[in-house]
Amino acid sequence: MKPPSQTNAIDFDSAKLQRLGFGQQPPLLERPVSLAQLRQQLSLQLQTSLEPQRILGTFYREIQRLVPLDALCYQHKSSDLRLEFGQRGHHSISYSLSHEGEHLGELVFRRNQRFSEQEQGNLESLLAALLFPMRNALLYRTATQNALRDPLTGAGNRIAMDQTLQREIELSRRHLQPLSVLMLDIDHFKQVNDTHGHSTGDDVLKAVAASIKNQLRNVDMVFRYGGEEFLILLSNTCREAAAMVGERLRFAAQSEEYLADGRRILLTVSLGCSTLLPGESAESLLRRADSALYVAKREGRNRLEMAG
Ligand code: GH3
Ligand code: MG
Ligand code: MG
Repeated sequence: MKPPSQTNAIDFDSAKLQRLGFGQQPPLLERPVSLAQLRQQLSLQLQTSLEPQRILGTFYREIQRLVPLDALCYQHKSSDLRLEFGQRGHHSISYSLSHEGEHLGELVFRRNQRFSEQEQGNLESLLAALLFPMRNALLYRTATQNALRDPLTGAGNRIAMDQTLQREIELSRRHLQPLSVLMLDIDHFKQVNDTHGHSTGDDVLKAVAASIKNQLRNVDMVFRYGGEEFLILLSNTCREAAAMVGERLRFAAQSEEYLADGRRILLTVSLGCSTLLPGESAESLLRRADSALYVAKREGRNRLEMAG
């Protein structure tokens, strides 16, 4: 048994320093750990989530018990995922994560101080704990995203639309901000199918969806409402601003060149626009946009009609 006296004396001093506001160690350094221990703890901890943000957040926090960092950046291009923790640092080490040929993203560790060889070795060893949790999280993300997406155009499907619309209506009420919707329908689309075939029709539909997304700041707000009909949610957008967006979309559609069998197809779209009224339901908001769209069609197409 070791005599405790020395420890007591040190504790006394550090308690004094603490009272004076010095010596406040970051909690990470108070929990020293060996590489093997940390790896084991990490692999248990990281299994508990399917959210990339959470998995990487925990990873970033915990590995600093062994290798202090200034920043961690993660990117997985094909799932459009980019996450950053901490601030920037001068020195960086990058890793490309993959498992059995499957790409799992790029990781960049950053720090103002140079990384030692041992630290680099530790990082590489700790990365192993990240592989399976990240692979599962990416698979889960793809599955949930696909469940909410129209496979042809990549726009949100009806399930996504209902969820997002409900959420946007609540937000609009809570923050007293306007909310508008645009219902867009391609004019005489049946003719495209009849003249060029269904497969070309599909390509044109994809191109129209891409053109709509190009014109908007938030591509997550475009939904395929029906066959050749799209709904665009415009959060914090009043009637006048929504009308401008609608006109922009109409103009973009008619300016775009859609190619079928090497020939140019001319296309126009018609739009109906409605803005949420106090106490109005989602159904009513959509019904008013749809009625306005119906008027736009009746009045000759290639036009935007505002709901009354
Ligand atoms: P309007 O100007 O009145 O909107 O005329 P329209 O021909 O666009 O309207 P209508 O509703 O008569 O026809 C819509 C067409 O869209 C009919 C359908 O075959 C076609 N359509 C719907 N979904 C798809 C799809 O996924 N792919 C293709 N190629 N065509 C589709
Ligand atoms: Mg149509
Ligand atoms: Mg239609």
